[in-house]
Amino acid sequence: MFNSFRNFCLYIIDFLFPSFCINCGAVISYKDACLCGSCIKKIELLHNKCEICSGELYGNRCIICESRKIYFDKNITIAAYSGIIKEILHNYKFNKRKRLYKHIVIFALEEIIQYKDLIDVVTCVPINRKKKAERGFNQSEVIARELAKNIQKAYHPFLREKHNYKTQRKLGYRDRFLNILGRYAVKNPDLNRKYIKGKKIIIIDDVFTTGATINECARILKSFGADRVYSLTIARADIKRVDKFSI
Ligand SMILES: [Zn+2]
Ligand SMILES: [Zn+2]
Repeated sequence: MFNSFRNFCLYIIDFLFPSFCINCGAVISYKDACLCGSCIKKIELLHNKCEICSGELYGNRCIICESRKIYFDKNITIAAYSGIIKEILHNYKFNKRKRLYKHIVIFALEEIIQYKDLIDVVTCVPINRKKKAERGFNQSEVIARELAKNIQKAYHPFLREKHNYKTQRKLGYRDRFLNILGRYAVKNPDLNRKYIKGKKIIIIDDVFTTGATINECARILKSFGADRVYSLTIARADIKRVDKFSI
């Protein structure tokens, strides 16, 4: 009945502590982490998206790429920030359901694997020590480390977030770009300069809204000589929806 001791243990765990799909409540196995098969199928994928920032196109135009200097070379996004994906990311980030990262990594791997040969090193959007202590972990770092391991690339935390910056969550489009300036810096700049110079770096983050955060991180990495900066963000919030959703 059980082809390994591990399966036997999983059976016991499922029996004693049943897990439920966070979306529909169906009973699932512990190893499935958070969603049942039919809910995974309901995830809203993005269509008609900009080749650079993955934003929604209006005709053939992208509001983000037209109105800003873009420092990143390409943003890869997996799904729209709505429905199940929104629920997962929110639970993962704010409700301390760290185990959800496993599902997020499965989705992300399918995308990142296609770009594997373009990447030298994986990094993430940092959060400062105070936020990390409150949240218990940096949601992007956990995903970045796991992705790097899976695609056999180095993970390196190049950036740090300075303290006392206003959260982006309640700001509008223009203010997000202003608020983000100077927010991040390279850790140990003398040492890291040689690890950044000439490298193709991918930054991992959870949600891409206006692109202000990724753009600022990319600007800094390029100023330290990065050859290419890509980003992988799990979900893409439509700019029109920004003020309605808390990100
Ligand atoms: Zn379900
Ligand atoms: Zn764009």
